Amino acid sequence: MMVLNSDSFSQDLFQWFDGIKRDLPWRKAGGHANPYHVWLSEIMLQQTTVKSVIPYFLNFIQRWPTIEDLGRANLDEVLHAWQGLGYYTRAKNLHKCAQMIVGEFGGRFPEDRNALLKLPGIGPYTSAAITSIAFEKPAIALDGNVMRVISRYLTLESLRPQLDQDAEAFLWQVIPQSRFGDFTQALMELGALMCRPKSPMCLHCPLMKNCKAYLNAVPEDFPKKVLKKALPQKFGHAFLLKNSNHQILIRKRAGKGILSGLYEVPTTDWDLTLPKRLLQDISLPEHLNLRGEVNHTFTHFHLNLKVWEGATRHPIRRMGRFLKNLKDYALPTLMKKVLSL
Ligand code: SF4
Repeated sequence: MMVLNSDSFSQDLFQWFDGIKRDLPWRKAGGHANPYHVWLSEIMLQQTTVKSVIPYFLNFIQRWPTIEDLGRANLDEVLHAWQGLGYYTRAKNLHKCAQMIVGEFGGRFPEDRNALLKLPGIGPYTSAAITSIAFEKPAIALDGNVMRVISRYLTLESLRPQLDQDAEAFLWQVIPQSRFGDFTQALMELGALMCRPKSPMCLHCPLMKNCKAYLNAVPEDFPKKVLKKALPQKFGHAFLLKNSNHQILIRKRAGKGILSGLYEVPTTDWDLTLPKRLLQDISLPEHLNLRGEVNHTFTHFHLNLKVWEGATRHPIRRMGRFLKNLKDYALPTLMKKVLSL
């Protein structure tokens, strides 16, 4: 692959980054970055914006100032504190990872990238981000933002996963001799602030003078996209079951699937057709009123839930409690939508 002014790439990038570097709570103030803070912020920032992450990050480090504190925390408390960030598997892996760091590494993050990759929730991107930002070692952290920058800078026609390899090969050629953490953060920041998916700010971009997409093409045409398949539509029933004290039956979602371990009102299975079989483990009242419908999109499917309401005095045979103060429980967005009916 042809390299375009490799020295100037990082110099231009740093000159810009040093001028705009945001004062984010997980960034080092003077000394070294705290690996716990870097890891926590990187996990939270997956699929979530910086602005939304800041209050969650501050709350976590106030409640659990060290990784030992987080490892000792109860999973329910962690899920409750995570509430609203979505993608709860991240929170479960976060907790598991904290326990492993404490149990197997004496509370210190391993500096070796291969060791990091064996920890729950840490993939190629996060391990590279931790290695470079927390330990100042050379590593290429390739997220969607960075991929977009490089695919435009070089007008790469390849599709993923080949595109990942092409972009990474280029970045290894232009990586500077030092400031590895800043290199990672500057690229991410450039993708987020300048080289935006739509309306990139090329005229203010430090890479403009050598960017092939700006000079010879249309930046928004890169990266090339594979047409996405439509997501399947699933259906289910949800039940708002109240007792005479207007308390609602809540239970913990069982199994290992989506939202498992989080609190919910009872629902049927979610299927490609509306399930005829209702609940096996809970006695439903004879009269149920249709309260409304809720639509929600998960990563891999759309869900439509018909929400039924009824009063019950029947004892609940298995699982579930009648509760009023629902804000103390880790409720996923889907359940908040159901309860808001
Ligand atoms: S010049 Fe435009 S397209 Fe090229 S890297 Fe900068 S913002 Fe992206």
